[in-house]
Amino acid sequence: MALTSQILELIRISSTDLPADVENAIQEATKREEVGSSAATVLQTIEENIKLARKETTAMCQDTGSLVFYIDYPECGNERIYRESILDAVREATNLKYLRPNTVEPLSGKNSGDNIGRNAPYLHFHQWDKDYVRIRFMQKGGGCENCGAQYRLPDSTLNAGRDIKGVRKAIIDAVFQAQGQGCAPAILGISIGGDRAVSYTYAKEQLFRKIGERNPDKEIAEFEVELCKELNTMGIGPMGFGGKTTILDVLVGIQPRHPASFFVSISYMCWACRRRTLTIKGNEVEYD
Ligand code: SF4
Repeated sequence: MALTSQILELIRISSTDLPADVENAIQEATKREEVGSSAATVLQTIEENIKLARKETTAMCQDTGSLVFYIDYPECGNERIYRESILDAVREATNLKYLRPNTVEPLSGKNSGDNIGRNAPYLHFHQWDKDYVRIRFMQKGGGCENCGAQYRLPDSTLNAGRDIKGVRKAIIDAVFQAQGQGCAPAILGISIGGDRAVSYTYAKEQLFRKIGERNPDKEIAEFEVELCKELNTMGIGPMGFGGKTTILDVLVGIQPRHPASFFVSISYMCWACRRRTLTIKGNEVEYD
């Protein structure tokens, strides 16, 4: 019961209170845009929306997204209990309107009404060697999820080879294709390597990193910074209205690949980057 309440609180915070690093990045972006421009006006409206959602404890966007949980638990943990607690918390969060019922049958479109169904919410379990529980939660809006893309290099249409220059071309193309959709400014989670499924999963997992948290590999870290600058010269801007802020950050993860495959996956997250972490260490409960 305590666990269900803790997870319910995790969902409430996530849905109504944008993480400080994302809010700060939006505020900094507003300062960079020209006063009175469409870009500045859009960003100011987003800022007001964020504050209002927090004050009123209401969802910051009407699309409360697909629900993704990553659960890291110790050897003594019980996966069944975590699963049941999460499902109970999701039902209650939907009932309390922290979450919109977003789970529909693929063909009929019939809504389950409580956000529960096969693989809904998406649960990733991982038993680790630490003695505490960490539950990371993400709400992925449908509009921004639709902007995600996967490239198989080489790609002759982009003239993109199997190297970092090819990766750059793939990412620029994905942002170009996304323009006017997916509620920019966006944060990009990128995976280089892996098979198709693992590549997409790892790309999305990058979005748990805070804005500005660079990849430990120096070369990749520089690539993240330079590419973010370059993408912000494209002029797409907040909500596609033009301006200097198309992307808030680029977060790249790398993993081994099969010699015959070279996948680049892009998980596109809108400004409403709702991701929160619950850590339970004995009686200590922390939300970040
Ligand atoms: S893309 Fe994001 S901000 Fe836009 S409607 Fe979907 S969840 Fe909301």
